[in-house]
Amino acid sequence: MGACMLNLVEYDIVFQEVPTEVSLALTIAGCPVKCRGCHRADTWNPNLGNPLTEAVLQQLLQQYQGLISCVLFMGGEWQPKALLTALKQVNQAELKTALYTGLEQIDPKIQAQLTYLKTGPWIRELGGLDQPTTNQKFINCHTGETLNHLFHREAG
Ligand code: SF4
Repeated sequence: MGACMLNLVEYDIVFQEVPTEVSLALTIAGCPVKCRGCHRADTWNPNLGNPLTEAVLQQLLQQYQGLISCVLFMGGEWQPKALLTALKQVNQAELKTALYTGLEQIDPKIQAQLTYLKTGPWIRELGGLDQPTTNQKFINCHTGETLNHLFHREAG
């Protein structure tokens, strides 16, 4: 499909990526950040998967109605218009929204539609959100609060 479409590679129900939420995670094809050691380098090709049309998203929201509290976009900010439309659709369904991006910041118009946002590329030496050394940040967009501590394993 055309250049202004999100392509959905796969979807899954996840519990840890967005703490305190049960999320429908949508993996979007074509991440341009290209971190060294990316665990999903197989999804970098923007032509993978199928177009995430309004109808496809609606069908998924119906399928998981009552079972999820949040929809997590694993990327997609490289198609800002399409992502914005999809986020509005999720908000209209009265679900929370989350985005995992490898960028340090995103279009404020997109951020305004988000409940949660994870920013920052994957840098192996620094580790992910469960490491105190990480460069990545997970925030509540409504309160501005950083929620990285929710990813840390119990201190023992
Ligand atoms: S931002 Fe995420 S998906 Fe994109 S290259 Fe980096 S680790 Fe991979």
